[in-house]
Amino acid sequence: MESIAKVFREKKLKLTPQRIAVYKYLLSTTSHPSAEVIYKAIQEDYPTMSFATVYKTLKTLTSVNLVQELNVGEGNFRYDANVDAHPHIQCIECGRVDDIHNVSFENLNSVVSEFSDYTVLSNQIYFYGVCGECKSKNISR
Ligand SMILES: [Zn+2]
Ligand SMILES: [Zn+2]
Repeated sequence: MESIAKVFREKKLKLTPQRIAVYKYLLSTTSHPSAEVIYKAIQEDYPTMSFATVYKTLKTLTSVNLVQELNVGEGNFRYDANVDAHPHIQCIECGRVDDIHNVSFENLNSVVSEFSDYTVLSNQIYFYGVCGECKSKNISR
């Protein structure tokens, strides 16, 4: 809690209960929830918080780089409190989004720089597939 206050102070963000609630929730999960999912998850503790507020809060947290906004190609964004560049994979059956660990894409920017006349600053890598759970469901069907 104290560290959240510190992080917010560094970002010159006012410490509002809404911002704390949304950020705390995102820190507690690696499931890359959408605004809708976050709204439902914190509703029990913050019944007066509207969806619009959750959405606005996410935009604020994204703008100061506390939260990463992911566009996996759905109509809505997913959110991640891990703002380091890391690749993601989405299940085409159930829609879950996971981080990919232990595979390094760090040299990709310089490789792409070599093959184009751009100076590459960042990248977003998304993979698509069928997750373990969906795979086992399909087998037992
Ligand atoms: Zn799945
Ligand atoms: Zn992630």
